[in-house]
Amino acid sequence: MTKSRDTILVTGGAGYIGAHAVKALKRSGYEVIVLDNLVYGHADVVKDVLDVPLVIGDTNDRALLDDLFARYSFSAVMHFAAYAYVGESVTNPAKYYRNNVTGTLTLLEAMVAASVKNFVFSSTCATYGVPESVPITEDQPQNPINPYGMTKLMVERILADFDPAYGLKSVCFRYFNAAGADPDGQLGENHDPETHLIPLVLQTALGEREAISVFGTDYPTPDGTCIRDYIHVSDLADAHVLGTDYLLKGGDSQVFNLGNGNGFSVKEVIATARQVTGRKIKVVECDRRPGDPPSLVGSGEKARSMLGWNPQYFDLTDIISHAWVWHQSLHTEN
Ligand code: UDP
Repeated sequence: MTKSRDTILVTGGAGYIGAHAVKALKRSGYEVIVLDNLVYGHADVVKDVLDVPLVIGDTNDRALLDDLFARYSFSAVMHFAAYAYVGESVTNPAKYYRNNVTGTLTLLEAMVAASVKNFVFSSTCATYGVPESVPITEDQPQNPINPYGMTKLMVERILADFDPAYGLKSVCFRYFNAAGADPDGQLGENHDPETHLIPLVLQTALGEREAISVFGTDYPTPDGTCIRDYIHVSDLADAHVLGTDYLLKGGDSQVFNLGNGNGFSVKEVIATARQVTGRKIKVVECDRRPGDPPSLVGSGEKARSMLGWNPQYFDLTDIISHAWVWHQSLHTEN
């Protein structure tokens, strides 16, 4: 078994999903180096919890990348570093194209120059836009409805061209709604600003917010609120390890959805959070948020059959319970 000698560069490893992936990689015997510009990432998580080397820098910095690739012999790069606020991508698209597209292109060029041939990419269901039907399979048309989704689609297209041209093999994971926290309680979601439903609901339960706004109650769904496929962050992390194993065994470039095939409405999320926390959670019904499709549910069948992915936490109660433990620990710290 040579796996313990494989070293993986994880960009964005100081962020929410990246940190969980680093933990899962280490558990599988990989060596990990994190590259993060710390604009949104947390250095203390990398140093104190994950205990792996942290290189502070940007994917747009080609000299830094060349130096990094000269110093280490990476078997693969796992790329999480990206800006991911949909609303901000609409008001400031240049920031998103510069970081998410140009930064990734710079990283890929540095990989080609250093003959690093395996790339695991953090893509998104936002590349589908408004789906033709649910659950969404990988072959559905991709028509993003915001610049964030477009940046991720552009990288997918770049990767499709880099394989035949340069032999760079990639696995793209299109996530649905990443949620929950490390079941050991070491890691969790800590965005600033926070825009995601589950952390905002839990912050409301903790009294850090007055109420949770429900964006739209007139959607064509059973209770009128949007339906999303919430996928546990540790299950996402496991998929990334399996994707790395797959590439290192010589697998071809592939794209996989990471979803549970099961959706929950905004009202169902709030009701479950009330059960888990035992707290009152005040709700304010608001207008729709622009750019929200009524229902996004993804089929994870391809990842299950090709990678042997076996998500453990598809029950919303588990997902919210783990997040609740984490948010309570953050609340105690503050
Ligand atoms: N949402 C909401 N109130 C909030 C934040 C989100 O009603 O304060 C809704 C949002 O409109 C969407 C769902 O919750 O239908 C999930 O949103 P989130 O931002 O968590 O993830 P997204 O689906 O946008 O990636």
